[in-house]
Amino acid sequence: MTSKTDQPIDLKPLIADLSGLEIITDLTLVTRLSHDYYTYSPILQPLLEDKRGDLVVRPTTEAEVLKVAQVCVKHKVPLTVRGAGTGNYGQCVPLHGGVILDLSNMQQIKWVKPGIACVEPGVKLAAIDKQARETGWEIRMAPSTYRKATIGGFIGGGSGGVGSVTYGLLSDRGNLLALKVVTMEDEPRVIELRGDDVYQVAHAWGTNGIITELEIPLGPAYAWAEAIVTFSDFMTAAHFGQALSDSDGIIKKLVCICADPIPNYFAALRSYIPQGTHCALLLVAECCLEPFAELVKAYGGTVTYQKTAQEASRGITLVEYSWNHTTLHARSVDPTLTYLQTIFPADQSLKLLEHMYHHFGDEAMMHLEFLRVGGQAVPAALQIIRYTTPERLNDIIKYHEDQGAFIANPHTCILEDGGRKTVDMAQLQFKQKMDPYGLLNPGKMRAWEEKM
Ligand code: FAD
Repeated sequence: MTSKTDQPIDLKPLIADLSGLEIITDLTLVTRLSHDYYTYSPILQPLLEDKRGDLVVRPTTEAEVLKVAQVCVKHKVPLTVRGAGTGNYGQCVPLHGGVILDLSNMQQIKWVKPGIACVEPGVKLAAIDKQARETGWEIRMAPSTYRKATIGGFIGGGSGGVGSVTYGLLSDRGNLLALKVVTMEDEPRVIELRGDDVYQVAHAWGTNGIITELEIPLGPAYAWAEAIVTFSDFMTAAHFGQALSDSDGIIKKLVCICADPIPNYFAALRSYIPQGTHCALLLVAECCLEPFAELVKAYGGTVTYQKTAQEASRGITLVEYSWNHTTLHARSVDPTLTYLQTIFPADQSLKLLEHMYHHFGDEAMMHLEFLRVGGQAVPAALQIIRYTTPERLNDIIKYHEDQGAFIANPHTCILEDGGRKTVDMAQLQFKQKMDPYGLLNPGKMRAWEEKM
């Protein structure tokens, strides 16, 4: 049992003050609820495997969150917020023990209006999508973990996903409208953030506020057909991905390109992807299938699988082979594999991407996800890496960066060392005001640790 300063925590008075709330102290369960999918990183695995909280609290209302915050401040005990725990970098793994605040029971969808939904943080993305679709709207973007992941966790730790080819990333202005946040002051308060102020807390990994309510924008709902297109040449597949992403008249939600031999890891899709070919996994609006077929023809691709939205709603969905689910399937066959997260510069000729594809060959198997960055469609990559040593992994990262590719390093559990690279002054200043004792998810925000 530890605290921020790694002094043992006296749990008895803490538990007494939390009486009336759902508390979990069972060691096995607390350990399980202290972890996420950091195991995808051979660097983070040994660093985080023995980290765990001292107890888990599961509030169901904002008033209960305020109570937990007040008790943690009173006892100066660290508090780490958790949604569904599907994050990849140990984002919700407590480095200094304390209370795990599991918000997965705050599941109310407060209202859905044309284009906007107001929800509690523990609602699963799939549940929001389902309710929004009943009114002709849908979630703009979701991680491939949308069935399990919570909206609070997506805003607290995610970046984008299926839908980003149209709407960009979560960090793009307009993709998050408002937040209610509980502070960790002596007398915790609820504050409301709107407009650009939401980015003081969004993607701060729960280090400077506890999100208790969110207003998110929605997009018009489409019937999404699913298709696999195969190509005999990888770069043709990549250029097809770029062309489809650039085709403003073809409405799409997912443009995922996997180089051979990645499809070998997709057991359930094997029969649709001939050995040695490269595949595109796609979600295209049903109303656009005719022009889509023309584009496929223009690039010499072969449609080997196509399902209507209704057919796709049963059984497997290609969404769960895209984004980091691609890594999941590869690792379920070979757990020594790991991955990288890269954004290539906007360049219609895809020169740097082509260079990396040939330069690393089988060591960095190319998996692309197209998304909009600054109004242009660009390929992001979640390359599957045949891991050997930490030094080699760093060399691969450095080589990419030296050549002009942006790497959001998934092998660190420090906020600034991943995708951000620099200190976010707005987030730091917000933490100074909202969490003056530094109790929220301690150890994750480098700027705060260095300041202390
Ligand atoms: P958690 O993992 O529980 O939390 C994530 C972070 O947010 C933590 O730092 C936590 O402290 C903080 N947090 C949680 N709730 C709150 C709150 N209410 N207030 C403040 N902070 C909070 N991510 C993507 O962006 N796109 C993808 O496509 C994607 N694909 C994935 C595929 C796989 C197979 C896996 C394992 C992960 C993937 N991820 C992806 C990462 C992760 O699934 C998503 O970011 C997801 O949205 C996290 O939601 P969660 O509820 O599990 O959050």
